[in-house]
Amino acid sequence: MTFSNLRLISPLTEALSKLGYKQPTPIQNQAIPYILEGKDIFGCAQTGTGKTAAFALPILQLLEERKEYERVPVTKVLVLAPTRELAQQINESFSAYGVNLNFKHTTIFGGVSQHSQTQAVRRGVDILVATPGRLLDLIDQKIIKLDTIEYFILDEADRMLDMGFIHDIQKIIRLLPQRRQTAFFSATVSPEVMKLANTLLNKPVSVNVVPTASPTATVDQMVYYVNKENKRSLLRHVLNDSRIENALVFTRTKRGADVVVKELNRNGITASAIHGNKSQPARERALSEFKKRNIRVLVATDIASRGIDIERISHVINFEIPEVAETYIHRIGRTARAGATGTALSFCSNEERTYLKDINKLIRKNIEVVSTHPFA
Ligand code: AMP
Repeated sequence: MTFSNLRLISPLTEALSKLGYKQPTPIQNQAIPYILEGKDIFGCAQTGTGKTAAFALPILQLLEERKEYERVPVTKVLVLAPTRELAQQINESFSAYGVNLNFKHTTIFGGVSQHSQTQAVRRGVDILVATPGRLLDLIDQKIIKLDTIEYFILDEADRMLDMGFIHDIQKIIRLLPQRRQTAFFSATVSPEVMKLANTLLNKPVSVNVVPTASPTATVDQMVYYVNKENKRSLLRHVLNDSRIENALVFTRTKRGADVVVKELNRNGITASAIHGNKSQPARERALSEFKKRNIRVLVATDIASRGIDIERISHVINFEIPEVAETYIHRIGRTARAGATGTALSFCSNEERTYLKDINKLIRKNIEVVSTHPFA
């Protein structure tokens, strides 16, 4: 299957070949034709499957086919995302895929001054990518109205619910026109997710992709038994290995993330933290420095890391074992993306052994134990 088989127009296929996309991913193969036909979509897919392009490409095409060129664009598309980082990534995807088209788009998210965001909105945009809180703020201030929205995309619905956005989302939905096309994406399906989907979608088509290979099969995994107080020394020790090009380190708490970063910096290892207490510019700076490989280690809490798409992470390090076993799979899935190889190291203290047992049960194997280290 090629993108032209999916009947995407040449301004889009040309942009895709410049990006080096050779063929559509399964979610793109499934979703694009339905969205082009005007159908509502219930998509079950995780980050990393190409789901952004699965909705952004057909939406851009539907806009282009209308050939309505307004002097001041009217906002026809609303994409809601749970985190600022994800909203920005989606906005960047619209830039990349729409490079040969002439649509205006912007992101609206909290944590930064609203001035530049409202300026962009006032100049007029076709596509608005937003997190729920700031969007509602700007609606309250009468800067944004949703009554011209014709295409609505709710991304990572499960995370929105986890993060407590349900009331915000319900408020937003009530402001949307009844006549619209909706696409709903969620990595997991729960009764709450289904309930929300049912209030939003009209005769939806379900598209479903299971990740091509589970990260538990493609990522080399090892566990180090170590006392809590020796974990920082162990981290320094493993990072002495120059084969670790870069590492995403997970800590349970924001404070823990800061402590680890300080310790690494003190020892000449470049590191930054991203978590909810950091200002938005600081998070962006950390992320972009990590992507540019100017810093070697990014330390994150689970919430802060959600939805962040960083290509080529060689190592994921669980400085603390997650209490929920599924979180382990989400974490290690950050490495070995798209066929690359990756390694996940987990530091397990005595207190965490029960969590590790749960993980071994979930992935149906015992993670290999590294016993030859100075802090065993
Ligand atoms: P997403 O699941 O939307 O976050 O996308 C994950 C990553 O896959 C992003 O870095 C995209 O740029 C990339 N991607 C999406 N679709 C394709 C494709 N058809 N071929 C190659 N890479 C893709």
